[in-house]
Amino acid sequence: MDYMYGPGRNHLFVPGPVNIPEQVIRAMNRNNEDYRSPAIPAMTKTLLEDVKKIFKSTSGTPFIIPTTGTGAWESALTNTLSPGDRIVSFLIGQFSLLWIDQQQRLNFNVDVIESDWGQGANLDVLASKLAADTAHTIKAVCIVHNETATGVTNNLATVRKILDHYQHPALFLVDGVSSICALDFRMDEWGIDVALTGSQKALSMPTGMGIVCASPKALEASQTAKSVRVFFDWKDYLKFYKMGTYWPYTPSIQLLYGLRAALDLLFEEGLDNVIARHSRLGKATRLAVEAWGLKNCTQKEEWYSDTVTAVLVPPYIDSSEIVRRGWKRYNLSLGLGLNKVAGKVFRIGHLGNLNELQLLGCLAGVEMILKDVGYPVKLGSGVAAACAFLQNTTPLIASRI
Ligand code: PLP
Repeated sequence: MDYMYGPGRNHLFVPGPVNIPEQVIRAMNRNNEDYRSPAIPAMTKTLLEDVKKIFKSTSGTPFIIPTTGTGAWESALTNTLSPGDRIVSFLIGQFSLLWIDQQQRLNFNVDVIESDWGQGANLDVLASKLAADTAHTIKAVCIVHNETATGVTNNLATVRKILDHYQHPALFLVDGVSSICALDFRMDEWGIDVALTGSQKALSMPTGMGIVCASPKALEASQTAKSVRVFFDWKDYLKFYKMGTYWPYTPSIQLLYGLRAALDLLFEEGLDNVIARHSRLGKATRLAVEAWGLKNCTQKEEWYSDTVTAVLVPPYIDSSEIVRRGWKRYNLSLGLGLNKVAGKVFRIGHLGNLNELQLLGCLAGVEMILKDVGYPVKLGSGVAAACAFLQNTTPLIASRI
């Protein structure tokens, strides 16, 4: 039985977990299998090859781990670094804060570069730290590509340029949890050493799979890194890769079939088309926010996120009430403001397997909620702005031309 039934579909617009397409749900609806049969290693081989494409990497080594984004963070850090290592990490919102907390609890010496929530990573400060670090004490630069709490996308190409400019050998570790499979992401081109994501975000799968990709330099670092790791040890995976059986423990058969179906859908649409779709949905959302007379939490256009928009509400409104109303009255799930921006922003997630009309349903719902909570919105204003843009820019569906 559904928990707290509401008629029709729930409009799931939190920035993860996101909608799971029917094809993926059906692919996972199956019995367990013997993972030591020839079938599962054969499928795993194709998954490991294909998953590299979502990172845009040919030289990387992927690890598909039964975990979440948080475990993928731990895998990236513990395999490449040793306790006491100095790392530079940017604090710009709740998820970068949580990653920093993990880094500190793993006993790294974290050099935090903090910005206002709503701003991107301060890359000028990174440049000055790298310039001063002629002894190369900084072992890694850690950055969240897309800060899901504030809707801020950082410029990874610039981070690489800065590292190269100072010929600094620090590892470049990137959280792509709310960006990979939705935003432009180029692991090899940007010289990223470890990139990672979680299955419940733009891959549009259930939660439970962390996907990590390591560059040759990261693999080399893992040979000498002294952090304690057991479950996440890349060495165990590599041993089983060599043996051709792939799994150091029992994999989730259902999630593997789900990943196969999710990748097939992404490749059928075309990764570049997927990224263009997210760009359209992001822009349409921002046009609606502007038409409502509200402000984006993201302070500059260069940081606008195409996967999540955090909308600032006027001080006389509690943004949590907006989220509560959406759920109680319209079967619409919006993202809460987290930590420093709790009560001040609500978030519209526009990532994953999602189309233009679904988004318009969400925007219409937000307008009614805004009216409910006493904000003087003109009903239809945001929807009209989004429609005007989407009507001009939405392409024909490739498979139906
Ligand atoms: N990183 C980012 C950018 C996220 O948005 C999240 C979760 O929303 C995480 C990491 C943590 O992932 P998980 O909740 O799957 O552990």
